[in-house]
Parts: sequence; C-alpha cells; structure tokens
Amino acid sequence: MKKTITTVIMAAILITAAVMLLTGCGKERDLNIYDIKVTLNTQDMTAECEETATYINKSDSELDGVYFHLYPTAFRKEARYFSTDNANLSAAYPKGVDYGGIEIESVTANGEEADWSIGGEDDDILIVKTSLLPGESAEFFIKFALDIPEARHRFGYSDGVLNLGNFYPIAAVYENGGWRTDPYYTNGDPFYSDIADYTVTFTAPTGWIVAGGGKIETTVDGDTTTTKLTALGVRDFALSASDKFDGIEETTESGVTVRYYFAGDPDAEAHLKVATDAINTFSSLFGAYDQKTLTVVRAPFLYGGMEYPQMVLISDSLNGSLFEEAIIHEVAHQWWYSAVGSDQINNAWMDEGLAEYSVTLFYENNPDYGVDTEKRIADAMQGYVLFTEMYSEITGGDTSMNRNLGEYISTMDYTYHTYCKGSLLFDSLRHAIGNDKFIEGLRSYYADYCGKTAEPDALIAAFENASGIRLKSFFDNWVEGKVGLYK
Ligand SMILES: [Zn+2]
Repeated sequence: MKKTITTVIMAAILITAAVMLLTGCGKERDLNIYDIKVTLNTQDMTAECEETATYINKSDSELDGVYFHLYPTAFRKEARYFSTDNANLSAAYPKGVDYGGIEIESVTANGEEADWSIGGEDDDILIVKTSLLPGESAEFFIKFALDIPEARHRFGYSDGVLNLGNFYPIAAVYENGGWRTDPYYTNGDPFYSDIADYTVTFTAPTGWIVAGGGKIETTVDGDTTTTKLTALGVRDFALSASDKFDGIEETTESGVTVRYYFAGDPDAEAHLKVATDAINTFSSLFGAYDQKTLTVVRAPFLYGGMEYPQMVLISDSLNGSLFEEAIIHEVAHQWWYSAVGSDQINNAWMDEGLAEYSVTLFYENNPDYGVDTEKRIADAMQGYVLFTEMYSEITGGDTSMNRNLGEYISTMDYTYHTYCKGSLLFDSLRHAIGNDKFIEGLRSYYADYCGKTAEPDALIAAFENASGIRLKSFFDNWVEGKVGLYK
C-alpha cells in the first residue's frame, strides 16, 4: 500500500510540475487559445494573417456572440480614437502621419461560415455571432490583413524595426453581464484581456530576426524564415522584428533566460545586466518570476517603454539612466500587469503606481547603481505637487486616480497621477505599516492573484491582512483625490 501511495504522490508531483511548466502561475488550465500565422511583406509593410481562436465561455450567461478588439483600427485615417494625441504626434510620426489598419477578410465559427459584423464605438470591435452556453467553447478562424504604418508606436515600423503589438483580434473581457469594448485611448495602456495560450508563427525574408516572449523555434527555407513562438499562460502577445537586430542573452541562476535585442547599442551588455538584475531583485522581493523567458527590445517608440507579457519595449530615444530606469519599470510590470492583472482602463494607478514604486525598491536593493531613492521620492512629490498646483489653477483640479483613461485630459495629467501619485501612495503606505508588512502584503498579493485579475479591494485586503490595520479609507483618500500633498 505504501508503494501505491508513493506512486500516487509522485504522479501528483509530476502533474503539478507539468502544469507549472505549461502556465505562468499554474493555477488555471481552461484557457482561451490563439494560434496566429503572420506572413510579412517587407516591400510594402503589409501582412497576411490567419488566426484560430478557441474561446471558452467562463461566464454564467449564455452568450449569443463573441467580441474581439481590433486595435490596429486606431491607426487608420478615419479613427475617432486615433492612436496618438496631437501633443505626441511628431514623436510617433517624425516623418509625418502615416496611416495603417486591419481588414477582416473572412470568419468561420466551428468550421461554418460565420455571421459577423464590425461594431464598437469606433468600428473597432469584431462581433461574431454564435451561441455559447456557460462552459462551452467555440473555435473561430479569422483571416485578416494588416497595413503597418511608418510609426514609432506599438503597431508600426520605423528605422528598420517593426513593432507588432496589439495587432490581432483578441477576445474582449466579458464581465458583469457585458463585453468590455473600451476604445483605444491615447493615455496609458488601453488594454484589458484574460490569460491565454499563444502560438504565433511569423514568416519574413531570411535575415529578419524576431524578438518575442516564450519558446522560439526558427526554420530557414531559402529566402524565407519562419519563427514559431510559443507563450503559454499569458495575457497578450507581441513581437518586434528587424533585419538589423543583434541579440544577446543570459540565463539567471533560477533558470530565467533574459534576451536583449537591439539595432545598435554600445552598452548592450550593461542593459542586459539591468534586466537580469531586475528579474533577480523582484523575484526575491515579490516572489519568483512566473515565466521562463524575458525579452527586452530596444525599439522605436514614442513613450519611454511598453510592457507585454514576457516582452518589453524600451524606447531607442532614451539614454543613460533613463534607459536603465525604463527597463526596471517595464520588468516590474511582469509582476504588476502581466502576472497579476488589473483593469488598466479604470484603475491604471494599480499597475503603474506599483511598477513605478518597484523601481525605487530596486534601487534601494541595488546600491551599486548609485541612485538616491529618497531624492527619487522627493522628485516624484515635487513633480506631482507642481503639476497639481498648475493643473488646479486651470481646471479646478480633479486629482482622483480612479478615472477612466479617457477622463485624463492630457498625457501629463495621466502620468503625474498614475505614476507619481501612484508611487507616492505606496511609499506613504510603506511608511505607515512598516517595510516588513508592506513587502509581506505585496508577496501575498502576487501569490494570490498571479494569473488572475485583481480589483483594488484585493490589493487593499492584502495589505490589511499583512498589517492587521484597516486601510480602506487610507486608499480611498489617495485614490479619490482627498489627500492634499502640497498643503
Ligand atoms: Zn508602466
């Protein structure tokens, strides 16, 4: 009998180990599946694409269709929610605005020609009719074409580097009896999605190198090269590609392979080290990184950086300590956005505030970087106060952080609230409950919500449980804008 029990235990351990390999956090396996094939035409920067999406109805409702975001529509000329606001237009399109987009060519549902339409606030949602009972799944086959604009953006091509972010039809989140069809706001990261399994096959002329997350397999067939990327248990998928890329990589002691791709960077080794230091520091502070790879890309990009699961873009317009800081911030998002999801459209302070404050924690734990973290917090405070005072004079001053992305009036308004004020909230909390309880709260938040989406109350509860102190009104005061920092 003992042997049998041992066998059962061993089998359980092996199954658990296999599941851990399959998903980031190993907590859930009934995931949506995306199998996407992209064939790039480098002559005119277009792509022919096929996507097989398996969608599982995890709600309690019978669905009469499935909604998919078509984010590249934000890059078309007629867009109501254009990819970029006027203040950032020249940073995104230094040679003048170039338009692009996505065209849906055909859709089938479970092998049959589907009844589909384009809807949403900005013709940015693909609606495919199908009847789905709770627990049922459907398989959609979507053929689509991409027109990639010359742009320094998530979806764009510039200076020989292609960024393919938010490029494919991705299922909207169904919650509270409805589909989340939020449009492409220019402030922040207007994306909200569930964890899924991805296989992406990218075909381009031989010589093009693909940078993306997950397992990478490359097959050269004469003039064309096909790269297959497998990323399991992730919230989204993005890649960059270029025939000018060099790549270097290093594997950490805990077995995470960190890759760095760049089209020219004399400090490449140092930048790879920043990324591995960040993975090591955050793993030790918050809990082990939930994936096996991390890809950092130096890319043309109008803002400082952009996070995707297992993959981050860092703008080639940044230098020195700003480039370093952007790497650390985007790597922190692997914990706060990628592993622990949150509603980035209505609660952007959660992941941005935490990612920004994680940079301060990084520098505290890595004194050899020589960054004065007290000055860092003081600078955030000064920036926020100056902005708040100026802003209040002009507008009467909405200093809340629970605004929808579309309700921030400018990039400045968004940035000073979600990054600066968000990080100041966490610094203030840490001083109030003490460092040990603060870190304990973050560790349990990560452990409990890895692979899930957390509401603000979940974050608050994690710190309340760690500290034994009621913190709801503390958070409410900060988030609702009642805390006056400059008085
Ligand atoms: Zn961020």
